Amino acid sequence: MLKQLMRTDLDRLLQKVAADYHLQVPQLLTDGTRQLVPFEMGELSLSGAPLQRKPTAYFFPQTETLLHITADGSIELPAGAARPLALFGLDRTDLAGIAFLDRFFSAAPADDVYQRRRNGALLIGLTGAAGVDHSFLSLSSGNCDIELIADNECWLALAYSERGEKLLSRFPDGDSEQLAVLRKSSDDSKLSQLKLLQQGSRLLQEDKVPDEFWVEIADRCILCSGCNLACPTCSCFCVQDRRRGEIVERSRVWDSCQLDAFMREASGHNPLGTETLRTRRRIHHKLVADVQRWGELGCVGCGRCDRACPTGIGMLAVAEEMVKRYGTAAPVE
Ligand code: SF4
Ligand code: SF4
Repeated sequence: MLKQLMRTDLDRLLQKVAADYHLQVPQLLTDGTRQLVPFEMGELSLSGAPLQRKPTAYFFPQTETLLHITADGSIELPAGAARPLALFGLDRTDLAGIAFLDRFFSAAPADDVYQRRRNGALLIGLTGAAGVDHSFLSLSSGNCDIELIADNECWLALAYSERGEKLLSRFPDGDSEQLAVLRKSSDDSKLSQLKLLQQGSRLLQEDKVPDEFWVEIADRCILCSGCNLACPTCSCFCVQDRRRGEIVERSRVWDSCQLDAFMREASGHNPLGTETLRTRRRIHHKLVADVQRWGELGCVGCGRCDRACPTGIGMLAVAEEMVKRYGTAAPVE
């Protein structure tokens, strides 16, 4: 289904969504960043820099209560949200990051805590002329309910699910030739980052990156864990119990593979006992282990870790450095 929305149509669509969902929309904050905020609070920001906060945090929050254990030993689960979430304004990498976590958390044994938030949620992508100064953002691979593609004061709207089709059903049809032109622009802009990551992945798989490289890169890490906290595909967490009066609250909290305690065992032995091993693992996991496990990179190229890392060793920077130094691997088509 292809529709075309003018600005008033877009407002109508969002109002319709807000009637049934807890809708989050992009807003430009006073510090210059763009964030998702509740629809009622937000003046829409329909183009600009990528969203600062990773959208996967809505389904896998930094701290999440799993259960309560009462004084008599019974277990209570926290109440679910009254309405499902709807996220509007997600770009190609945001949607790819959510798709990656969906697959990770639904693999057996499925993570019911993640599913509680994710099931029933609505995703609306925003691509096309929606980047900084209306620069072109690549189209998504369709892993959303609706994709809005910005072009010349209007949005072409594609529905990828039944719910998306229902929401768009009353809007006027879009022009398929206009869509074809936009798809072509998307191909053209596709994406030096992904090629870089694929080349880095191949170098690692062919064992072309020596240990000295990791010593040098890891020496720059100050253990702030910003890379992991920013990353939409990071899924590691630890579990904590806290007593609150008579009740014990069990929560899960994001973990960071850059930190010393990440794999330290109760005996004190640490299989990732040096920063070099941990830094190598962070990169290797997404560029090699995830490829072997899931058949695709565990990095969607969003650049958040590069923006977060105070010492310039985010994923894209490291991949670029590997390719510069050891890049004899054949380019990936
Ligand atoms: S660019 Fe960095 S933050 Fe983004 S998906 Fe890749 S590793 Fe994660
Ligand atoms: S953001 Fe950079 S400095 Fe901070 S833990 Fe990650 S790699 Fe280390």
